[in-house]
Amino acid sequence: MTEDAFEFDARSAPWRGPDAREWIEWRLAEAEVEAGQAARALATQMAAMADVLAEAERHPEVFAIFDGEPTADDLRVAYDAAVADLAVRLSVAEGTVALMAHQARNLRTRAPLTWATFREGDISAANARKLADVLDSLPVAASCDSDLDARAVDLARLAPARFAERMRTLRERLHPRALEERHRDAAASRRVVREVEPDGMAWLGFFLPAAAAQAAWERIDAAARHLAVPGESRSLDELRADVGADLLTGFHDPETAPRVTVGVLVPMMTLLGLSDEPATLEGYGPIDGDTARRLAAHAPSFHRILTHPVSSTVLDVDRATYRPPADLTRWLRLRDGTCRFTGCGRAAKNCDLDHTGDWAKGGRTAAGNLAHLSRRHHTLKHRSRWRVEQGPGGILTWTSPTGHVSTSDPPPF
Ligand SMILES: [Zn+2]
Repeated sequence: MTEDAFEFDARSAPWRGPDAREWIEWRLAEAEVEAGQAARALATQMAAMADVLAEAERHPEVFAIFDGEPTADDLRVAYDAAVADLAVRLSVAEGTVALMAHQARNLRTRAPLTWATFREGDISAANARKLADVLDSLPVAASCDSDLDARAVDLARLAPARFAERMRTLRERLHPRALEERHRDAAASRRVVREVEPDGMAWLGFFLPAAAAQAAWERIDAAARHLAVPGESRSLDELRADVGADLLTGFHDPETAPRVTVGVLVPMMTLLGLSDEPATLEGYGPIDGDTARRLAAHAPSFHRILTHPVSSTVLDVDRATYRPPADLTRWLRLRDGTCRFTGCGRAAKNCDLDHTGDWAKGGRTAAGNLAHLSRRHHTLKHRSRWRVEQGPGGILTWTSPTGHVSTSDPPPF
């Protein structure tokens, strides 16, 4: 029986009660199995592409015309011809071919564990390719390759956005050059870019140290949300664009803009200048120790939270502004970063703070029983068969209506 015939039968049958559940479970299982097979197939395809390009370099005569020994230019022509050959056969852009082959080569040579996992279909293509990109941003054969490789396999099941976030944090920690040094170099290329677009539009972009960019974003976002009153016809995107432009062009009155603060989580030893352990900027991720120390000491719109050097638990929430409920909220917002439903990326500050164990049934108002949930997932928790439990360290264990168990860790500090 063909797939289509089955679907036709399924739709026309009176699925109800346990039959409907059986059918759903069967289709869920099928979707899961096929996802693994798709990853396997893509790994095989990427390996084949990389092999074709490697062979084109070893035997340029197959792809290029030249006399005697090939020059560097002949090799380049052969490589480009092989890329184009693949692109046409596969109906994809040449840039895509080159990228996929490069990613396969990177994974094969620098992340053998992840590569094997990818070949087995046990890590998604998105996550495997993310690791390849992270490796690409490090010096060749960096000493941290094997650490990143092993961690990627451990974290293989994370949703792509979470996986990317973990990899970015690990990259900052494991990079062979100190973050301070890299940040100094990168900060030297800060700039404003303007790109002309059709229809009388243009982009204006700022490449800035993350702390400045995040603070500017928060200010624009808060002012835009302040204007989003009932009856306002502009979307949040439009409001942010208008507010940002007004601020820069001088039409906006700074007195009326809501004051914002950005949390910065600083390991104790980093604050004392005794360690280069990165700090965490709310809404962004890891930042270098110099910047964190400067923000913690001088900048009024940054809110400092200290962590214990060994356990990373919170030691002290800025004493000057200590108010238990507000500070608990602020700490949880930093801990969670986003909605805590597995894979959801909605920013914590736009989420509800939910009692994991129902407050009405004795659940405590404490860090170990609170977690941010987006309105969508808050509703699912209360109104669907999704179930959640909170363990030590704020780890949430979600059980799907059909029994699939997943965990949602807070982001690493
Ligand atoms: Zn959510």
